[in-house]
Amino acid sequence: MDRSTTLGARYTEVQTRLAAAVQQAGRAPDSVSLLAVSKHKPASAIAELAAAGQHAFGENYLQEALPKLRALANCKLEWHFIGKIQSNKTRDIAASFSWVHTVDRLKIAERLASQRPADKPPLNICIEVNLSGEVSKGGISPDKVVPLAEQIDALPNLRLRGLMALPARSEDTFTQTQRLRPLVTLFKELNTAGWMLDTLSMGTTHDFETAIACGSTIVRIGTALFGQRDG
Ligand SMILES: *Cc1c(COP(=O)(O)O)cnc(C)c1O
Repeated sequence: MDRSTTLGARYTEVQTRLAAAVQQAGRAPDSVSLLAVSKHKPASAIAELAAAGQHAFGENYLQEALPKLRALANCKLEWHFIGKIQSNKTRDIAASFSWVHTVDRLKIAERLASQRPADKPPLNICIEVNLSGEVSKGGISPDKVVPLAEQIDALPNLRLRGLMALPARSEDTFTQTQRLRPLVTLFKELNTAGWMLDTLSMGTTHDFETAIACGSTIVRIGTALFGQRDG
């Protein structure tokens, strides 16, 4: 199969599995959205997936992402930043992305707020939470989430949408559930306390069905769509 056939087939398969997991969980069909994680993949592959109907794409590395965003500017895609954020990169992130999933400190939130262009809608923000056994060292500990949420809430040009995590990988559903639970619990606690968060960003190629069963609203899928990444 050539690449586009493969990509189209993978996209259909992921959509089918996602829909089945949503139904299995007794959730509304539109309650989970698919973020296609395109790091290390060329703009041409993103364009193909966009032509097949995919709208939202996630990138981890700003330097790599910017040329792709420029090349695909006419496609009217929704870009999500899901990588570690260095403070000298916030201006371009604030200008070019619609969502940032990996905010884990006030300094970054303040810079994004002040650098978000006035002619754009508020930047959608998720706080990255570091659950124990986390792969990425990013994220703040669960007990610091409420103070950071309050600070973000007070900033202009940002809209706090929810929480994100990237737990250590496991192929076992029980372990996956155990690793995702603390984020779900925290999310529920916040909403019980009056926050109106609508986004739980969790689940990748390896655990998205479990994440959907646990309540994820955005699954971030790379490998199952685009194939293995080089390097
Ligand atoms: C790379 C990445 C993903 C996608 O992982 P896959 O295993 O390729 O689906 C999701 N979330 C984050 C934060 C990532 O860095």
